[in-house]
Amino acid sequence: MIKESTLHPETASFSETVLAGDYFLKVVKAGQTIRILDLEGNQAADTLFYNAHNPTERYSAVDTIREQGNVYLTAGSKLMSSEGNVMLEITADTCGRHDTLGGACAAESNTTRYSLDKKCMHACRDSWLVAVTEHDELGLTKRDITHNINFFMNVPVTAEGGLTFADGISDAGKYVELKAEMDVLVMISNCPQLNNPCNAYNPTPVEVLLWD
Ligand SMILES: [Zn+2]
Repeated sequence: MIKESTLHPETASFSETVLAGDYFLKVVKAGQTIRILDLEGNQAADTLFYNAHNPTERYSAVDTIREQGNVYLTAGSKLMSSEGNVMLEITADTCGRHDTLGGACAAESNTTRYSLDKKCMHACRDSWLVAVTEHDELGLTKRDITHNINFFMNVPVTAEGGLTFADGISDAGKYVELKAEMDVLVMISNCPQLNNPCNAYNPTPVEVLLWD
């Protein structure tokens, strides 16, 4: 569902550009709104959410899908935690659909999906591993890297229930906005994938903005 934001970039309290292949890590406080802006279009922002005070509680794709009765995420979607709490709600969305089924790219999946020589290519799972390694104060390890949301990524489900990694429906300037219902740690990998159309084979930067 397309829903425009009422927030203006000039009033944001924070903004940061995240290059493809980089990670973004920040606590968003309850009541704050975070926007992920697809600067050049057709980019995938692979994102994990944790309770900032207890990271064993984290975003749960299965609970979110069951509670809203739909596999796609868009304005109005409430992102549920593994404890059944609402973590964030998507309050604005000019892309219209986001994926939470396709998972994140990894050296291992690149190898099995594409070819052995793709193993050394940078992948989202590596970006998250770098993030948790560089921030050991969080106490997160690779065991904490579980299912995620792929903002702006298009993974349509076929009539037979199959998943397809399709060309993106996002465009330059499209954004998704989420209001936090609890203090959440947000961990984004701006996807460097070059083997499928999730980035239009051309990974580009995204911008993250925050409003109090
Ligand atoms: Zn990726």
